[in-house]
Amino acid sequence: MFKVLERLFHDKIATEEIKLTGSERYRGRLKGCPSASCLKECAGVCPVGAFQVNDAGDDCSINYSKCLFCGRCVEKAMSMGDVALHHTIDDVMPFIAGEGADITADVLKQKLGRSLHVRHLDAGSCNGCDFEMGALSGPMYDLARYGVHFVASPRHADLLMVTGVVTRNLEQALRMTYEAMPEPRLVMACGACAAGGSTYGESYAIVGAADKVVPVDICVPGCPPRPSAMIAGLLAAADMLKERM
Ligand code: SF4
Ligand code: SF4
Repeated sequence: MFKVLERLFHDKIATEEIKLTGSERYRGRLKGCPSASCLKECAGVCPVGAFQVNDAGDDCSINYSKCLFCGRCVEKAMSMGDVALHHTIDDVMPFIAGEGADITADVLKQKLGRSLHVRHLDAGSCNGCDFEMGALSGPMYDLARYGVHFVASPRHADLLMVTGVVTRNLEQALRMTYEAMPEPRLVMACGACAAGGSTYGESYAIVGAADKVVPVDICVPGCPPRPSAMIAGLLAAADMLKERM
């Protein structure tokens, strides 16, 4: 927050130009594994238990349903002099927003015929995922050009997009929304809260991940996921829906 304010006052511009070649500062998928001596410490700083160490204590794996892409594990390994673990900058955004825009539209049209109707349900999010989802309707991503539309009623929807960890208050709403959808129906858990359910820990008010209440077909990782990752998820959903028709 202070960094943003500092930049705002200093540079007058707090945002940066979107590079269609990918951003060097993007924290993407994690690659590599630190040495055995660092593994325990890396797992210890992970706030959601996404950094997992095997029983032998010499290898690691990342649970991307839970991972927040916060970079703490990488920073910890680096502070111990181990640079084997790093974030990649692999992102589908440059492709989707650039040369791949027409290809993406064609793929969706082939798979879905004319359209995919999406009902969004915020089951208890911080609104981060919802803001990114809002960007899908803006001029940069323009989801409507692919034939994907958000609808107000679950009765008109092919896919239920869930954001946020499921709270007790919204558990019933989630179940009823799912039951109101016609078959074939799909559920997409969007973001670490809906997919992993660990972001806010455990409390009386939290049920957990969306799959504790409804069957989840596809997860989009991230906290929040980038709009481009959501589009990639929708492409995968299109594949699954076609198979079920
Ligand atoms: S990036 Fe953050 S959330 Fe993901 S594994 Fe590392 S410490 Fe855990
Ligand atoms: S995944 Fe992150 S951005 Fe999305 S609702 Fe949870 S905390 Fe907010």
